[in-house]
Amino acid sequence: LKPVVALIGRPNVGKSTLFNQFTKSRQALVADLAGLTRDRQYGDVFFENKSFIVIDTGGIGEADDGKGNIDDYMATQSYTAIHEADMVVFVVDARAGLTPSDEEIAKFLHTLGKPVFLVTNKTDGVHEASIAEFFGLGFGEPIPTSASHGKGVTSLLEIITADM
Ligand code: GDP
Ligand code: MG
Repeated sequence: LKPVVALIGRPNVGKSTLFNQFTKSRQALVADLAGLTRDRQYGDVFFENKSFIVIDTGGIGEADDGKGNIDDYMATQSYTAIHEADMVVFVVDARAGLTPSDEEIAKFLHTLGKPVFLVTNKTDGVHEASIAEFFGLGFGEPIPTSASHGKGVTSLLEIITADM
């Protein structure tokens, strides 16, 4: 059975861009519009001699953005994906910095007892010191990526598949 990896995080942090990099496809919708991906999306990832299934999700939303029900629905999709997954890639936005939603998601992920890989995406043009605050989420050293530039993706795949 192939391992299942869920991409989890707030809308607009770059989950779908990472999904596309992992699967080398344009399957996932990428948009500036926060939270465009409303359903779970599954992809096959082949890396070196390993393979796993990746799930893209709409993301656990920001409260009070005026889209109440849709946000709840997307959150449900994320929780379903988390429970289907053997491990979680928790994506945060290095440009935006640490947000209360990131802390809420982290708290929830800590209750699961599943491996969590913390990815600080959008590190292009970001000072290294701004990534340090994410260390406090308690998932160890953040893994830096710039998904839209394809940077750090190979290293991330090496880390994810190390024990597969
Ligand atoms: P999602 O909502 O988490 O799935 O985020 P998306 O993958 O749809 O990306 C949201 C926006 O961020 C899009 O405009 C992407 O092009 C952009 N984006 C994704 N990764 C990066 C990155 O590494 N650097 C920068 N500067 N922008 C990125
Ligand atoms: Mg998306």
